[in-house]
Amino acid sequence: MKLHYLIYFTLAHLLQIYAHIEYPLLLMISFDGFRHDYIEMAKRAGKHLPNFDRIISEGVKADYMKDAMITKTFPNHYSIVTGMYEESHGVVHNAMYDPVYGQSVELWTPEGHTEKWWNGTTDRKTGPEPIWMTNELAPEESFTRRSGVYFWPGSDVPHYGQYPHHWKPYNKSTPLHTRIDSMVEWFSSEEKPINLGLLYYEEPDRTGHHHGPDSPEILDVIVELDNALGYLFNKLDEHPGNGHHRLGDRVNLIVTSDHGMAGVSEERVITLSKHINTTQFGMFGSSPVFNVEPLPGKEDLVYEILSNISHLHVYHKEDIPDDFHYKNNRRILKILIVAEEGWSIVKDATENMTLYGNHGYNNSLDSMHSIFLARGPAFRSGFRSPPLSIVDIYSLICDILYMVPHHNDGKLERIQHILATHLFEHFKLNVTVFTYIIAFSLCALVAGVLSCRACCCQQKRGYRKSTLHIEMNGVHGIRTGATSHLLQSDSSEEDEIP
Ligand SMILES: [Zn+2]
Repeated sequence: MKLHYLIYFTLAHLLQIYAHIEYPLLLMISFDGFRHDYIEMAKRAGKHLPNFDRIISEGVKADYMKDAMITKTFPNHYSIVTGMYEESHGVVHNAMYDPVYGQSVELWTPEGHTEKWWNGTTDRKTGPEPIWMTNELAPEESFTRRSGVYFWPGSDVPHYGQYPHHWKPYNKSTPLHTRIDSMVEWFSSEEKPINLGLLYYEEPDRTGHHHGPDSPEILDVIVELDNALGYLFNKLDEHPGNGHHRLGDRVNLIVTSDHGMAGVSEERVITLSKHINTTQFGMFGSSPVFNVEPLPGKEDLVYEILSNISHLHVYHKEDIPDDFHYKNNRRILKILIVAEEGWSIVKDATENMTLYGNHGYNNSLDSMHSIFLARGPAFRSGFRSPPLSIVDIYSLICDILYMVPHHNDGKLERIQHILATHLFEHFKLNVTVFTYIIAFSLCALVAGVLSCRACCCQQKRGYRKSTLHIEMNGVHGIRTGATSHLLQSDSSEEDEIP
């Protein structure tokens, strides 16, 4: 597969250089907790969303994006940029315990900003590589690759000691417009422009938690986000973008999210201490999903009691369903507990339930699915796509930016139907078929050259024979200049003819 990609990207580069095609740009925005149906919901309520409408009519809208299990913020943002399920990249919850380190962490704390929590393997080949690194490590040919990352979870943590070209230490009070201003500045820089930008914003997750996904407040936030997209489009259109086209026409834009949102209430709370002595196990994570580590010797007891609690799904690690892709990692502990949709888990009654919305439930639930929109020269126009998988976004971006993907769990084949103008998409070819055609053409070319060469030799041999015939008949005086040259140059060889 790698060879296919190498041939494909080399040809793409050559075409780009010789046909003076401007190099591709990509900006991906994550609006945290943007459920897949919020746009339709807002429109049903009479809200005007001209900028979301513009992306949808000029680009691609997927029915929904299926996020990775568990449907929490840090794990899914890392799945988007690495193309890996959580069991593969190792960020298995916002708060987790690592038995090898003998240590737990909350990823939003200073300890959570150390590399060991974002790269739990020493094998660089199979460990996670965020797309901003893949971009900057890819070979440079006609342009310099730089990544600009604004608050994307994990971007303020070094990976193998490296940060993206632009990044910011997280500050949740930075307004979205300020983030957009910086992003457009990075793309339009004359000296050091970026070709890949990633931007994170905390809404509508914050409002979804505090007011619930079906609240009027959510509708107002969706309108605000639409306005922000309009602001982005205007800013992009103001800039020539170091090329022949305005940035607004060049930038490939993806708008996506890390999970959806389900309504929760005070009436639907599982208080563990009412059922079990909670000193018999450690629990890591946050409602409605936890990794549970029973004390030695208490495994069976803890499992048995937990599995008898209503509205709670309880799995032995080895019995976690395969389609969760949430099993093969040391940070996934002996027991996984996940509440039923709309239910919350607290350890004891001292914990207050102040939320009206939450996420973390089974990733097959409709309420956990998130948004996926895309617009730009690489994408089809006015296209409605079947559901997409979050781990395929990494491969998609690699394809658009001519990069060989690092090891990951995604498949370009599952998502490339949303691409339109990407070089060979016109011909409805995938990378493999294209490579076979190139290989066949090369063989045909070599065969053609060899045939011509054989033909020429044959002709030369014919000349020599006729020359010999002429000489033997003693008719030297009729040589023209050209034939004379040919005959002279062959004369030494003629001597060797027995
Ligand atoms: Zn989130």
